[in-house]
Amino acid sequence: MTKFSDLTLHDVLAGLEAKDFSAVELAEATVSAAEAAQGDLNCFTVIDGERAKAMAESSDARRARGEAKLLDGVPIAMKDLFAVQGVETTASSNILKGFKPEYESTVSGNLWNEGAVFFGKTSMDEFAMGSSNETAATGPVINPWRAQGSTEKLVPGGSSGGSAAALAAGISYGATGTDTGGSIRQPAAFTGLVGAKPTYGRCSRWGVVAFASSLDHPGPFGKTVKDTALLTQVMSGHDPKDSTSYPGEVPNWVKAVGKSVKGMKIGVPKEYRMDGMPGEIDKLWTKGVEWLREAGAEIVDISLPMTKYALPAYYIIAPAEASSNLARYDGMRYGVRVEGDDLTDTYEKTRSAGFGNEVQRRILMGTYVLSAGYYDAYYVKALKVRRKIFEDFNLAFEKVDAILTPTTPSAAFGIGSKADADPIEMYLNDIFTVTANIAGVPAISVPAGLDASGLPLGLQVIAPALDEAAMFTVAGAIEEAAGFTAKPEKWWG
Ligand code: GLN
Repeated sequence: MTKFSDLTLHDVLAGLEAKDFSAVELAEATVSAAEAAQGDLNCFTVIDGERAKAMAESSDARRARGEAKLLDGVPIAMKDLFAVQGVETTASSNILKGFKPEYESTVSGNLWNEGAVFFGKTSMDEFAMGSSNETAATGPVINPWRAQGSTEKLVPGGSSGGSAAALAAGISYGATGTDTGGSIRQPAAFTGLVGAKPTYGRCSRWGVVAFASSLDHPGPFGKTVKDTALLTQVMSGHDPKDSTSYPGEVPNWVKAVGKSVKGMKIGVPKEYRMDGMPGEIDKLWTKGVEWLREAGAEIVDISLPMTKYALPAYYIIAPAEASSNLARYDGMRYGVRVEGDDLTDTYEKTRSAGFGNEVQRRILMGTYVLSAGYYDAYYVKALKVRRKIFEDFNLAFEKVDAILTPTTPSAAFGIGSKADADPIEMYLNDIFTVTANIAGVPAISVPAGLDASGLPLGLQVIAPALDEAAMFTVAGAIEEAAGFTAKPEKWWG
């Protein structure tokens, strides 16, 4: 009997094609695994066995007719930020409780069009605001990984933590996420997975609950770089329903994986060597540089001088956009509604009851920086910084084909260990990832090693806008050199 949980997405496609198992068998095993794990990992907001079976049946029929498509029969977990028609979509927030969209997000639609099978929606930080998946209305998601000899519950990272946990636990074969400041790459690093966000505009935002529209990037998680390349390819494409959608063709990115990096120039930015960065992260980064050098790449020291302003600028721009995007949740049309004495009172009571603390904090910050008198001092200034960061990358990419950095400043941390402290502690998780969102350039995290306690760490590759091919080639070289095969020991149901 095949052990489904060990299979990659490409293994699954080969197994289906060889008739080792059917899409229905796989879907049933996936749903059972999801149900069994839910009590311990809490990574799903919805598990939908019926729809999974129906989609798998159609997939088997298509394959029997010789009409199998790129992802036919592969179960994919969907972050609860993507609208799936007829399925409760809440962004892990109470304010959207019971909301069942009558439409499908473009990205999920692209996956179903290629035969992928829906089986469940994954938990996330409320409205994608966070780095630990502790703020979901349905409670924290638990990382399948534990430190050696410890039973302490660790965060899977966030905000796309449910997707990361479901894939790392071997329940799914691919998963979707969104990355506004690091929400795919950071949880990928914390769970030993590959996580990518393509160039801004490659994946449509239509039907994705908005957090900070100019920074929101849908993207996938995969077990391997090749799986991730295929998912990114299927999820991408021009969408007239998103005015910022990129109109160009989607290249074949799977072909970029496995290409040699010989002669490629890889930039190592000195500003990413932060004070107080754990020695292990620094060592892994040095190892990554060596791996690429040995594979024939030329290593170039570069400078991204505006890096230190990236987080402060992000925490002005993202809350500003969020405060505007979240104004629509007023209790009038869907979700929670708490009656007040008059309209304003109803708004206030509804929003106080419906939004959690972190979301309220962001709305307050965003409203403040956009208010008359502060707009120029904060918001306009942050936009100027954004431009400078963009120029930093443009200059760097005149000299190099891709940039290598660590993904996160630490491995996964304990549940509750940062959430209850100063919020800035949590925000610092994204110190290496936010810059790529601010500049809109593609970036990927690849599992590259384990820390002293046996927890996964990732390396990040950043590439020029629209050059995902370079990103996947370099990521493939790191994957091959790192030979990362570690898996969490199964303790969950
Ligand atoms: N951790 C960052 C935040 O809290 C980024 C989240 C994300 O990428 N969605 O805003």
